[in-house]
Amino acid sequence: MANYKNILVAVDYTEEAHKVLAKAKAMAAGTGAKITLLHVVETVPVVGGPESFSYVDLYVDQPDVIDRALSDMKTLAAAIGVNIDNFLVLTGVPKHEITSCADEQGVDLIVLGSHGRHGIRLILGSTAAGVLHHAKCDVLAVRV
Ligand code: AMP
Repeated sequence: MANYKNILVAVDYTEEAHKVLAKAKAMAAGTGAKITLLHVVETVPVVGGPESFSYVDLYVDQPDVIDRALSDMKTLAAAIGVNIDNFLVLTGVPKHEITSCADEQGVDLIVLGSHGRHGIRLILGSTAAGVLHHAKCDVLAVRV
């Protein structure tokens, strides 16, 4: 197994997040890797005119959404019994935010679920597939 030092774990609000974080905990235990836990508050793309294309965030106007995401991630980490070095909540399109966050943080492994809310009937969900395509580091898609 590679000697990962800096692991980014991306979690949504599905039940599978427990399995994803437990796997990252096991990966980090062997190497003493630092773990960053990330949730992306989703934005949705809208067509605003013939040549414009932008993103509308359905949630960002509600400041407590960020706080709630942080609090939910802390509860999840406590349930798994894993030490998290950095909790992050970003807003945007999950696959983009996950890959750019990994670049900025110098991550050497991204851990996410093979499926979440966007892909229960597919081989890989859309976030998982997008991250696998665009990430510059290794990606572990935990079978959920
Ligand atoms: P999906 O491909 O969207 O079905 O989700 C696959 C995996 O991507 C999930 O199990 C999570 O690990 C991750 N993921 C999906 N949405 C988000 C999100 N909004 N924030 C962080 N991680 C996410």
